[in-house]
Amino acid sequence: MEVARDIASLQKAVGEARAGGLRVGLVPTMGALHAGHLSLVSEALRATEYVVVSIFVNPTQFGPSEDFDAYPRPEESDLAACNDVGVDLVFAPSVDQVYPGAIATTIHVAGLSDTLCGPHRPGHFDGVATVVAKLFNLVRPDVAFFGRKDAQQLAIIRRMGADLNFPVAVEGCPTVREADGLALSSRNAYLSTDERARAIALHDALAAARDRIRAGTRNAAPLVREMASIVQKSRPTAVDYISAVDPDSLRPIDTIEGPVLLALAVRYGKTRLIDNVLVDPTERG
Ligand code: AMP
Repeated sequence: MEVARDIASLQKAVGEARAGGLRVGLVPTMGALHAGHLSLVSEALRATEYVVVSIFVNPTQFGPSEDFDAYPRPEESDLAACNDVGVDLVFAPSVDQVYPGAIATTIHVAGLSDTLCGPHRPGHFDGVATVVAKLFNLVRPDVAFFGRKDAQQLAIIRRMGADLNFPVAVEGCPTVREADGLALSSRNAYLSTDERARAIALHDALAAARDRIRAGTRNAAPLVREMASIVQKSRPTAVDYISAVDPDSLRPIDTIEGPVLLALAVRYGKTRLIDNVLVDPTERG
C-alpha cells in the first residue's frame, strides 16, 4: 500500500493506475476508521480495481465551537487497517496541501443543505461539498463510496455530482451498527459509559417508528411524537431534530405514500449523534 501526503504523489500513483486501465474507487473519510468505514472500503474493493482511501479531517466542515481540534487522529492504526484490507493508496494530506491559502470558491447545495442538520451546523455542508469536489478533482475516481449513515451528506453529494456533471458514480453503502443497534461513528468514542447506554435510544426510536409504518401507520405526526418520547426517556442533553422526510428532497412529509427517511440528531453531553433509517411502507415487518 502506498501513502501519499501531497497532491503530486497522489496524482502520480492514481495516474499510473488509470493508465494501466484500472477503475479507480475513492472512499473519503476523516480517519479514526471503524467497521463502518471498512465496509465502504470492502464495497470499493469489490466494485473497482484501484482503491484510494482519503484520510483528512477537513477544517472547513467544522463550526467554530465544534470538535476539530479534539477529533481523533489515530493515523498509525488507520494506515494498518487500510493495509490489512488491501487498500491500494491512502491519501493523507496536511491542511496546507488541501488549502494552501484561503479559498474564495465554495459549493453550496441549496435546499438540501438547509434542512435537518443544516440549521444546527451552519456552513458544515458547504465545507463537505467543497472538499468532496476537491477530492473528486484530485483523485478523479470512477466511483466514490459514501455511507447512508450520513444520509443528508449523501443526498448533497449526489445532487452536487449531478448539477456540476462530475464524471463520478456515487455509491451509497448501508449503515454498520453495534450489536445493540447503535450506528458506528468515530464520535461514539467521546461517550461516557452512561451516555453510551442512553444513546441506544436513537436506534430504538427509529426501529419503533419503522415497525409502526410496517404495521400500517401512514400519518407522520404520531410517528415523530413516538420517536421523541423514546428519545426523551434517554435524558438527552438536547434534541436537534426528529423528522420524517422525503428521501430525495429531504422535505418533511405528512402522509407516508412511498419510501420515507426517518432521521434524528441528539446530543448527550458534548457529543452529537445522528442516525436514520429508510423505510419502504410496502415492506411488511
Ligand atoms: P467520516 O469519517 O465520519 O467522515 O465518514 C466517512 C464515510 O464513512 C462517510 O461516507 C460516512 O457516511 C461513512 N460512515 C460513517 N459511519 C458509518 C457507518 N456506521 N456505517 C457505514 N458508513 C459509515
